[in-house]
Amino acid sequence: MKYISTRGQAPELTFEEAMLTGLARDGGLYLPAEIPVMTHDEIAALAGQPYEEIAFRVMWPYVSGSFAEDEFKAIIGRAYEGFGHDARAPLKQLNENHFLLELFHGPTLAFKDFAMQLIGQLFQVALKRRGDRVTIVGATSGDTGSAAIEAFRGLDAVDVFILFPHGRVSEVQRRQMTTPADSNVSALAVDGDFDDCQAALKDMFNDFDFRDGVKLAGVNSINFARVLAQIVYYFSAAVSLGAPHRKVSFTVPTGNFGDIFAGYLAKRMGLPIDRLVVATNQNDILHRCLSGEGYFKGDTIPSISPSMDIQVSSNFERALYYAYGEDGNAIAQLMDELKQGGFSVSQGAMEALRESFDSGRVSEEETLATIRSTLTHSAELVCPHTAVGIKVAEDHRAADVPMITLATAHPAKFPAAVEKASDVHPPLPSRMSDLYERPERVTRIANDLGALEDHIKRHIAE
Ligand SMILES: *Cc1c(COP(=O)(O)O)cnc(C)c1O
Repeated sequence: MKYISTRGQAPELTFEEAMLTGLARDGGLYLPAEIPVMTHDEIAALAGQPYEEIAFRVMWPYVSGSFAEDEFKAIIGRAYEGFGHDARAPLKQLNENHFLLELFHGPTLAFKDFAMQLIGQLFQVALKRRGDRVTIVGATSGDTGSAAIEAFRGLDAVDVFILFPHGRVSEVQRRQMTTPADSNVSALAVDGDFDDCQAALKDMFNDFDFRDGVKLAGVNSINFARVLAQIVYYFSAAVSLGAPHRKVSFTVPTGNFGDIFAGYLAKRMGLPIDRLVVATNQNDILHRCLSGEGYFKGDTIPSISPSMDIQVSSNFERALYYAYGEDGNAIAQLMDELKQGGFSVSQGAMEALRESFDSGRVSEEETLATIRSTLTHSAELVCPHTAVGIKVAEDHRAADVPMITLATAHPAKFPAAVEKASDVHPPLPSRMSDLYERPERVTRIANDLGALEDHIKRHIAE
C-alpha cells in the first residue's frame, strides 16, 4: 500500500515511511492511496474472534508491504498484553439500544493506549531493522502524552518529548507523564494552551534543519498509524452487535477528529455504519462546521472534558480531503485560509460530510448532569468526555439501529469532575494505585519555538 498526502505535493511513501515521518513535507497528512474493502463474508467471519485476531485482519492490508505476517501478529500481541481486560474493548449496555464501548482498560486508562501501544511496538521493530533512531515530539491535551510516554519508555532507539499545557491537564494525566523514571522520556510543561503546543509541534516539523537534525518523528493523531489502530474497535464492537447483518451507529467524543475518522475509514472499508455522530464540548468548531457555519477558529475555553479542548482539529483535514473529491490543491488552499482564521465549506463537500456525520455540542452543566443520570439509570460511573458522548448519542438515537458510544477514558482519570457530578470518588484500578506516591520529573518551558528546540537538542546531546 502506498500513502499519499492530503495536499498532493509530498512524495508517496510506504506505510513504514509514513509512520516514521508523521506530517508530510507539504504540510499535509498521509492517507492510503486506496481504502481497502472487506467483503460481507470477511466481516461476518470476525464475530467471536479475539481482539488481536480482528486487529490483524482489519489492519493487514494497510501494512502488508512493510511488515511480515508473523512479525505483525507478534507486534499486535505485545501491544495489547498489558491491558487490564481480556476483551480489550468490552461493550456494556446502558439501555435498550444504547451501548458503551469501554476503551479505557489500557495502561494509561484512555483510548489512546490502543494506538500508542501498537505504534511503540511498530517503531521499535522498524527502527531496529534500519539500525536507526528518532526523536519523537508530541503535543498533548493530556491523554496522548501519557499514552506515548508509557508506550515508548525504555525503548533505546527513541527519545520522547511531550509538550503539555501547563496547569491544564488533570493531576492523574500529569502524574502519568511525569512519574516514569526512564531517561528517554521527558514531560515539558508549556506556558500556553493545547493549540499553542500543537502549533509549536507543527512549526518544528516545518523547520527542516531541526527536523532532519534530530530525526524528528511524530506520534500525534496526525500519524496515520494511530488512526489505523483505532479502526479495529469499530469492527469488534459492530460485529458483536450483529454486523454485517445489521447496521450500527457510533457517537464519538471528539477533539482532533482522529478517533471518529477511524470510524469513517471502517465505514468505507465496508462496515455497515449508519451514522457517525461527532460529540463536542463547548469547544465546538466541529459542531459549528457540520451545522453549516463554516470552519472558523474560536478561542479555546477550558472545560471539564479537557482532552477535547481543541479549536483546530487536525484530522478533520483528512475528512475534508475525501469530501472535496481527493483534491489536494483544494485542501492546501483551505488550510492557507485557516491560517487567516477559517473557511466556509463548499456545498458539495458539506453534502459529502453529511452523508456520514452528524454532530452535537454539550455544555458543562449537561456534562455533569449526564454523569449523574448515567450513574442513576445505568449504574455506570463515566468520565466527562464519555458523558459528552452519551448526551449527544441520546439526542441522535434511532429506535431500529443500536447506538454505540465510545467511552474514551476511565472516570478515575478525571476524578474532580466525576466527584463534583456524582459525589462518588472514582478509585484508580489497583494496578496503578501508587501513582500519587511516585516522584515527579517535569520541565516548565516558555511557549517559544527557539526555547523548545534548544531544550530538545541539548537533551538529546547529553
Ligand atoms: C483524545 C481524547 C478525545 C478526543 O479524541 P480525538 O481523536 O482527538 O478526537 C476524547 N476523549 C478522551 C478521553 C481523549 O483522551
